[in-house]
Amino acid sequence: MAAPGGGGAGFSDLGDIFETIFGQAFGGGGGRQQPRRGADLRYDLEIGLEDAFHGKQAEIEIEVSSACDPCGGSGSEPGTGTRRCNLCGGHGHVRAQQGFFMVERTCPTCHGRGEVIEKPCRSCRGEGRVDKAQTLEVNIPPGVDTGTRIRLAGKGEAGPFGAPAGDLYIFIHLKRHRVFEREGTDLITRVPITFTTAALGGSIEIPGLDNTTIAIDIPAGIQSGKQLRKRGVGMPVLQGRGRGDLVVEIMVETPTKLSARQKELLRELQETETGDETPQSKGFFDRIKEAFGG
Ligand SMILES: [Zn+2]
Ligand SMILES: [Zn+2]
Repeated sequence: MAAPGGGGAGFSDLGDIFETIFGQAFGGGGGRQQPRRGADLRYDLEIGLEDAFHGKQAEIEIEVSSACDPCGGSGSEPGTGTRRCNLCGGHGHVRAQQGFFMVERTCPTCHGRGEVIEKPCRSCRGEGRVDKAQTLEVNIPPGVDTGTRIRLAGKGEAGPFGAPAGDLYIFIHLKRHRVFEREGTDLITRVPITFTTAALGGSIEIPGLDNTTIAIDIPAGIQSGKQLRKRGVGMPVLQGRGRGDLVVEIMVETPTKLSARQKELLRELQETETGDETPQSKGFFDRIKEAFGG
């Protein structure tokens, strides 16, 4: 338990006191401290939406504080051992006056272990740990999302003096995709269609993440902003069954480059309009007439 923030000397003293008090209150007796487990580590991994869809076996390289090979993490030069700490007599704690209180503090010589190394290992200088580059395989299951954590037990920092290692947490981040956005297990995409397709109806095809083609029927008279939902073709459910949906948001595009012939046809169409074809517009202008007494 490190002092939060690791401030001045005063604060780290306070940290030691709290450690001692809490250690005794909850640790069950003031004996020698057990060597603490190594720290948990975090690794941020960015992957594409396709990899999140299919799952992936990823290889990552990290430098982790690992158990020293020659001494096996003990910190003692091979062939040598430890002896009882003289300062605390092997208790791991020393008593000190702190204001009104007599407090027990972690022994500064042996750091609570109760024993000291006779001869420090030359490879790790008695630390029991050295930084090592490691290549790890990470199994990314289908359906992961930004914020998914994958735990690799025992792949964190080695514990001091042979104590168990911490865990390594892989934090997943999804890259932006050019076609799909993701919302939970749903995939969302915006598709422009021509105003003639919007009026007459039709069909569009969207490439799926699994290399299939997803056909979407466009009903005649569809409006801009309308969302069409195709069930079961979205993202796989993480560690579950089935898939989410594909949501297609329709954007009706007004043509901007018309030939003379096309303009002619549209004018012809315009002349046949009665207003009944577009109930929203008709309703709107009817309301205006009512409001302004036209
Ligand atoms: Zn000691
Ligand atoms: Zn060593």
